[in-house]
Amino acid sequence: MIFNSISGLFSNDLAIDLGTANTLIYLKGSGIVCNEPTVVAVQDDESGKRKVVAVGKEAKKMLGRTPENITAMRPMKEGVIADFEVTEEMLRHLIRKVRDKKAILSPRIIICIPHGVTEVEKRAVRESAESAGASQVFLIEEPMAAAIGAGMPITEPCASMILDIGGGTTEMALISLKGIVYSRSVRVGGDTMDEYIQNYVKRRYNMLIGERTAEQVKISIGSAMPFPESMSMEVKGRDLVQGVPRAVVLTDEEIRDALAEPVNQIVETVRIALERTPPELASDIVDRGITMTGGGSMLRGLGQLISRETDLPVNLVDDPLSAVVLGSGAVLDQLELLKDVIVQ
Ligand code: ADP
Ligand code: MG
Repeated sequence: MIFNSISGLFSNDLAIDLGTANTLIYLKGSGIVCNEPTVVAVQDDESGKRKVVAVGKEAKKMLGRTPENITAMRPMKEGVIADFEVTEEMLRHLIRKVRDKKAILSPRIIICIPHGVTEVEKRAVRESAESAGASQVFLIEEPMAAAIGAGMPITEPCASMILDIGGGTTEMALISLKGIVYSRSVRVGGDTMDEYIQNYVKRRYNMLIGERTAEQVKISIGSAMPFPESMSMEVKGRDLVQGVPRAVVLTDEEIRDALAEPVNQIVETVRIALERTPPELASDIVDRGITMTGGGSMLRGLGQLISRETDLPVNLVDDPLSAVVLGSGAVLDQLELLKDVIVQ
C-alpha cells in the first residue's frame, strides 16, 4: 500500500509516437524528452542470439556500414511492427533512458497506432509497451493524434482533414466529433522518396548510393515543384561499372524528376479522399483546407502542389515531426475531455 501511494506520487505519464522513421517520447509536464530515429543495431553472438548494441542516432549512423555480425535495422515497416523482438528492446531501451533521467516509476503510456491496423498489430504494440515497463497502456490512432497536435477542433461537429506523410506511409483522415469519418492510407512516404532517388542515380549514373545519402539529397535539394533558385549537391557512391567510389553532382531538377512518381501517388491519395468526403463535411474542408503533418510533408513545394491540384488551402504545421507525439501528450493532459479518442 505504501509502495502504491509512493509510486502514485512519482509515477508519470508518457506518450510515445512509434514511427517508421522516428520514435518520440513525451513526458507529461516536461514535453518531448526523447527523439530518435527508429533504428536498432543488433549483433549475433555465437549461439545465434541477437543482442542490441545501439539504438537511435547511434544506430542510424551505422546503417549500411556495419561489419558482418552487426546489422543496423529498422524494426518498423509501413507503420507497423515488422520485428517484434527488436521493437520491444528498442522501446525498453528508450523508456529506460527517460526513466533514469526523470526517476519515473511504472508509467502509464499512451502509444500511437495507424488507423485500421489489425487486432494482432494492436496487441503487439500494447505488449511491447507493457514489457517495457508500462503500468497501463492506452492506444490512440495516429491521424487523431496528429490532428490534436496540430490544434484542430476535433471535438466539434465540423470536419478537419489531416494528411500525415511519414517514413513508410501517407495517411489521410477526415475527423469530426472525435471520430475518424474516413481514412485512407498508402504505403508511400519519405522512405519511398529515398528509394526513388537511389534508383534514379543508379539508372542515370550507374552508381549506387546509400539510403542515408539519398535522404540527405531529398532534404537538401528535393522538391515537388520548381522554385526560383536552382540547387545542386555532390554525392558519393560506388560506380557499378568500374566498381570504385565516385562522385556526381545532382540538381534539383533531376531530383524533382526522380520524385515525380511518389509525389503523384500522394496527390492521388488526397484526391481520392476528397472524392469520398460526405458533402456536408466537404464544405468544411473548402473553408478550412488540409493540414499536413509528418516529416515527408516538409518536402519543398509539396503543400503548394497539393493546393494547386485540389484547389484547397494547405497548411503545414509548425513542427511536422512532433505533431503526433504532442497530440498524444495532449490527450494524457486532458484524459477526461479526450478519453473517447482512446482505442480499445
Ligand atoms: P514516421 O512517423 O513514419 O516515423 P516522420 O513523420 O518522423 O515519419 O517523418 C520521417 C520522414 O520525413 C523521413 O522519410 C525523412 O526523410 C522525412 N523528412 C524529414 N525532414 C524532411 C525535409 N526537410 N524534407 C523532406 N523530407 C523530410
Ligand atoms: Mg508518424
